[in-house]
Parts: sequence; C-alpha cells; structure tokens
Amino acid sequence: MAIPGSGLSRDEVLSQLDAMKAHDVRWRDGRAFTLAYNAGDEVVALAEEAYRRFSTENALNTDAFPSLRRVQADVVGIVGSWLEAGEDGAGFMTTGGTESILMAVKAARERGRAERGVTAPNVVLPTSAHAAFEKGCAYFGLESRRIAVRDDWRADPDAMADAVDENTVLLVGSAPQYPQGVVDPITEIAAIAAERDVNCHVDACMGGVTLTYLARLGHDIPAWNFSVPGVTSISVDLHKFGYTAKGASVIMHRSKRLRSFQTFVTDNWLGGFYGSSGVLGTKSGGAMAAAWAVLHHLGDEGYLRLTAAARRACDQLADAIEATPELRLRARPEATLLSFGASDPDALDVFAVADALWRRGWYLDRQGPPPSLHCTVNAVHDGRIDAFVADLRASIDEVLAARSTGDQGAYGTVE
Ligand SMILES: *Cc1c(COP(=O)(O)O)cnc(C)c1O
Repeated sequence: MAIPGSGLSRDEVLSQLDAMKAHDVRWRDGRAFTLAYNAGDEVVALAEEAYRRFSTENALNTDAFPSLRRVQADVVGIVGSWLEAGEDGAGFMTTGGTESILMAVKAARERGRAERGVTAPNVVLPTSAHAAFEKGCAYFGLESRRIAVRDDWRADPDAMADAVDENTVLLVGSAPQYPQGVVDPITEIAAIAAERDVNCHVDACMGGVTLTYLARLGHDIPAWNFSVPGVTSISVDLHKFGYTAKGASVIMHRSKRLRSFQTFVTDNWLGGFYGSSGVLGTKSGGAMAAAWAVLHHLGDEGYLRLTAAARRACDQLADAIEATPELRLRARPEATLLSFGASDPDALDVFAVADALWRRGWYLDRQGPPPSLHCTVNAVHDGRIDAFVADLRASIDEVLAARSTGDQGAYGTVE
C-alpha cells in the first residue's frame, strides 16, 4: 500500500479506520474475556478525552512538561498507598506490564552486579509467571530458571529455594498468576529472597487493584504486597483493572535506592546528559493523563463498586463451569481470572469450543499446557454471564456433535 498522492479528508480517513474495526472483538459489549476492560461508556470517554489532551505532550522531559511530573507523582502515590509501600517507596509509570517487568528484571541484574559482582545472573520463577519475564531474561541476558508449580497451580517455594544459587538476582511470585488465577505464596518466596538479600518481584499486573479492593470488601486474600518482608518491587497495570486507556502501568520499588537500579543515564554522546526511567525515550503523556483522570473520577468508591461487580461475575462464571460436567475448572478464582479445560480431553477439544464461541462473538484466551481456555472477568461482564454460559453450552454441544478440533492460537501474535 502506498501513501495517497493527495491527502484524504478527515471524514474519509476516520471512516476507513472505523471500517477496519468492523470485525474486531466487541469489547464494549463485554464480548472479550481478555485484552480489553470496560468500566462503562462514561469512563471510556473520559479516558479518551484525557488521552487526547496529552497525546502530544512528552514525558521524556518533565522540565518542559511539569504537568506530567505531577501526573506521574500523583498516580504512583495512589498505587503506592494501595500496595502499602511506605514512606520510602518509589516508583515510575511505565507503558504496561511488560515494561514494568522488564524494568524489574533490569533493576535486579544491576543490583546483583553492583553489590555482589554477579556477571552470569539468573532468575528463579514458577512456570506460571508471565511470558514478559522470559522476554526480560532474553533481552537483558539473564538465565530463566522455571520451577514447576504445585498441584494447586501455586508456586512451590521449597523447589524455588533449591534452584537459588550465588548467581540468583531475582525471585518472582504473582498475585495472581495469569494462567489459573491463583495467588502464589508470596510470604514464603519473599522470605527466601530476604534471607539471601536478593530482589523479589511480585507481579500484580492483574491483581494490584483487584486484590487491594477485594480485601477491603471482606474477601480472604493471602498477603502479597509490601506488607510482606522481602518483597522489593511490585508491578500493577492500570490499563487492566484500573480501567484506563492502554499504555499505563506502575513499577513500584520498596525504596529509592532499589529504584535507582532501574534508571538509565548517560552523557556518552554529543547530545548532553540523557536520563530515562524506562525503556522508551519519547513517551506520550496520553496514557498517563488518562490514568490520572480515571483514578480521580472513579475514586475509592468507584473501585470498590467495580471490583465487587467483576468478582460477582467471576464467581458466577466459576459456578457455571463447575456445574458443567464436560468442563473442569482449574482453580477457584482468588481474584477475577479463571481457566478451565475439558473433563475428558479425548472427548472434547476446548480449542474447538473457543472457535465456536468466537463464531458467536465471544473471545477467550487459549492456553496450555494443559489445553485450557482462560477468562479475565471484569466489571463489564456483570449481568452478561447468563448469556455467555448459554452460548458456552451451545458451543460444547456443537463441538461434541461435530467432533471438531481447534487450534491453540496465541496469547500474543508477531504480525
Ligand atoms: C498482562 C500481564 C502482564 C503483561 O502486561 P502487558 O500490559 O500485556 O504488557 C504481566 N503479568 C501479568 C500477570 C499479566 O496479567
């Protein structure tokens, strides 16, 4: 495709873009159980407006844009209070969970090198920890030591302790982990790290908001945040259960000193002193402003309400799956994520069920091992579970009748 010789009109351009979206998943209608989150039209519209107003502002240099320094400080302050970060806690906004995790891996590597001279660093993490840790290890040259989870899908601290050696710079736990939606034994994992004085990152990309508010709503949540001794950093995605626009996450460190291993500065070029907190150079203020706007608009009460709605829908879906003989729920959700497979994988292909659901307009993540479907349940699904469960039943019946099979698909794609 070539650039048009003479430019198209604004209306023409926008209508072509809208046309491209015609076959996208209808997340506004609650049809996506992954990838998109929706706290209602009003919240989406506010995020979009705030994003528009700051889309060209550049967070690379807050001397020129002090507004964005203030935005970041306010957002990090709010998230820090959710995480019980304490006085010395220090963080940055990043563009997403992946960047937050990359920075946690990079900071652990730098600390290991600076304090202990580690030149061949490794990370000890459960098989359930997010793919972004693999990416971080690959980008920054660390060995990834994956340790099998227990039968209940939670990390196995004893096996993790056995894998730690003098080159270990980071241990990882998730709250909750993505694949089965359960919270790892953070207290035990962090204790192993504390004993050796190495970093322990808690991946709360999914749970940073929801676990905070579920605890406030009276749910029994295992300890997972900075109240746990030994936890050195935590990632929280605001573009998930913070219900803001894409491109917003926070990486929080227990102290300014630990945060110092994340940042990068150089003057080894002809352009003068250059410092940056994360992966990017030029960074749009759009997602940052949208996060500030949504946090302040929803307020504490908004997040209590939305978290209750998401959990209600998630529990309802978990109950329905447990009541479906052909399906097996992997674990009772501890936050708002769940996954399920077939009771008899030889009799029912769950990826074919995902195909049949997609023909009915529902999009789920496919994952494995073992072959499973995954639902990230958010507030938009409250009141829509009955309709989904009816289509799930119809899809199972269709697949059983046709004996069809499906493809595993992908959580993320390359093109
Ligand atoms: C989504 C997610 C990530 C990665 O975040 P992105 O925003 O997709 O980059 C990391 N960890 C967990 C547990 C997640 O759910």
